[in-house]
Amino acid sequence: MSAQRGPRMVLLGKQGSGKGTQGERLAEHFSMQHLSTGQMFRDSASAGVKVGLEAKAFMDRGELVPDDLVVAVVAERFQNPREVTPGFVLDGFPRTEQQALELDRILGQHPIDIVIDLDVPTDVVVERMRSRGREDDTEESIRRRLELYETETKPLVDFYRQRSVLVTIDGLGTEDEVHAAMLDAVAHRFSD
Ligand code: AMP
Repeated sequence: MSAQRGPRMVLLGKQGSGKGTQGERLAEHFSMQHLSTGQMFRDSASAGVKVGLEAKAFMDRGELVPDDLVVAVVAERFQNPREVTPGFVLDGFPRTEQQALELDRILGQHPIDIVIDLDVPTDVVVERMRSRGREDDTEESIRRRLELYETETKPLVDFYRQRSVLVTIDGLGTEDEVHAAMLDAVAHRFSD
């Protein structure tokens, strides 16, 4: 990795695995943007923007926002070089194979460098989601999101493993331990 560029990263992992917290810390560490599609939708919904309000109807039920809506929002961010230079941390995108293929298209000649799968057992993420008290964290939506994680998002672990960019990190340590493990993984990826 040259001094001019930071890593292009994707964080995979169940909701409640710590992607948001860790994504922010990584972005700060490398002075780059933390791009969370969930946060983009929450911000635009609370600002009353149409795309956010459309997305909110899906989010509140624990459903995935349709691919075309999510991809449009991400593609727009990537049009602005300042958002994605020197690198970026994508948190919560891609969540389906279709989104992963669209991300390839958006990135063109500069593909993702490293995909970190933050591994936390289901019973632990359920407890974390119950206690964070976010508006979309009802019992029913928590259950539905975990189901969709298994069917739609988990296949991306293999998708990226086949490309040799996948690293799995145990997300059960302290916040500092997980952060340190992530930095090690990035350093290792760029060491050869
Ligand atoms: P998060 O902030 O990552 O927990 O996402 C909150 C909610 O936003 C999810 O439960 C989905 O409804 C929606 N969402 C965020 N990112 C995506 C995505 N890449 N694809 C589909 N839906 C998404």
